[in-house]
Amino acid sequence: MQLKIVQAGNPVLRKKGRVLNKEEISSRLIQELIEQMRETMREAPGVGLAAPQIGASLQLAVIEDRADYISEISAEKLAELQRSTVPFHVIINPKLSFLGDSTAQFFEGCLSVEGYQAVVERALKVRVECLNERGEAVTINAQGWYGRILQHEIDHLNGTLYVDRMKTRTLTTTENAFRFGTNDNVQELLAELE
Ligand code: ZN
Repeated sequence: MQLKIVQAGNPVLRKKGRVLNKEEISSRLIQELIEQMRETMREAPGVGLAAPQIGASLQLAVIEDRADYISEISAEKLAELQRSTVPFHVIINPKLSFLGDSTAQFFEGCLSVEGYQAVVERALKVRVECLNERGEAVTINAQGWYGRILQHEIDHLNGTLYVDRMKTRTLTTTENAFRFGTNDNVQELLAELE
């Protein structure tokens, strides 16, 4: 069953999600929610979906970057983005820390801010300590695009949207990003807009 993805303006996107305990995680309710979020993310399609985006104010998100999502992107662009496939997984009650000071600036979008993209500066390397869908403690070390996905999803769990962090003058509709090749050279674009 697919769930409806709520859009910006819905107060649930601005609330901090509630922590889940291990009993809840193993409950049928949460296990079914995870399954429905997986289906909803794939249908969208998206590389991540946080519980507040389907109206559930919980510290839970699903992530997956599939081979068919990146097959159309050039090897050069993938290398620039540091993007590669990420198997489906669940993060619960995550704690995020930044590793080092390096950052990257790329366009990102959000299923809850339909039709737009903007440049967001994010840490390049992060560590996430969380629980998985079986309630087991997991430490994730991530960099590049995967690190960006984690930061975006964990922001959702704390009531933050990418628009709070974006370079406001880079905001574009997705349609215009294609039309004007906005995504092609982010550094050049930033220099022009500044
Ligand atoms: Zn989002």
